[in-house]
Amino acid sequence: MLEDLKKSVYEANMELPRRGLVTYTWGNVSGIDREHGLVVIKPSGVDYDSLTPDMMVVVDLDGNKVEGDLNPSSDTKTHLELYKAWKEIGGIVHTHSPHAVAWAQAGQDIPCYGTTHADYFYGPIPCARQLSQKEIDENYEKNTGTVIIETFHNGSINPIHVPAVICHSHGPFTWGDDAVQAVYHSVVLEEVAKMALLTRQVNHQASQAPQRIQDKHFMRKHGPDAYYGQK
Ligand SMILES: [Zn+2]
Repeated sequence: MLEDLKKSVYEANMELPRRGLVTYTWGNVSGIDREHGLVVIKPSGVDYDSLTPDMMVVVDLDGNKVEGDLNPSSDTKTHLELYKAWKEIGGIVHTHSPHAVAWAQAGQDIPCYGTTHADYFYGPIPCARQLSQKEIDENYEKNTGTVIIETFHNGSINPIHVPAVICHSHGPFTWGDDAVQAVYHSVVLEEVAKMALLTRQVNHQASQAPQRIQDKHFMRKHGPDAYYGQK
């Protein structure tokens, strides 16, 4: 079942070590089939070297395993919360890529210092709040998703305009139209996080890029009159 989706989610998972975003088994990619309400996700704790498309696990939106011999990623419930909240997204990625993690561990939003960031993320990449003891004890992974959603809705941030978050003391989640685009956003996020860190080192009081520059760069790629790239 869902053989094409399994193959694309597998390929997207394999892109993470190729791009240097994961060490050992850290990180996971999922993709959703909206028609059937089923999610394909990496199995938990399996080395990328031994991963195959048929190891991908199929779960429903309540987290019940529908197909697969292995257990799904331990972060599955976080992915499911985001899919349920944001109907427009088709793929999700979680990594511990080091520069994004540095901002997460510092508990700070990643400021939009320049056009590389503004081309993909409209405004700062928010850092979600810490989970409470109760939230951790009751349902850690599900509540990680709840807190991500809260970060966007309380801050009135459009998750399509800012397809990434960093979870406090943890690391990044990114999303996109599908698993491939979600991985692409993870790669860009790590570069942007690195650039922002270097900017801070050069000038710890550096200002964000002017709003007019952020508007121009985001809108020329993603706005109603976007003109970047080829027709
Ligand atoms: Zn993690």
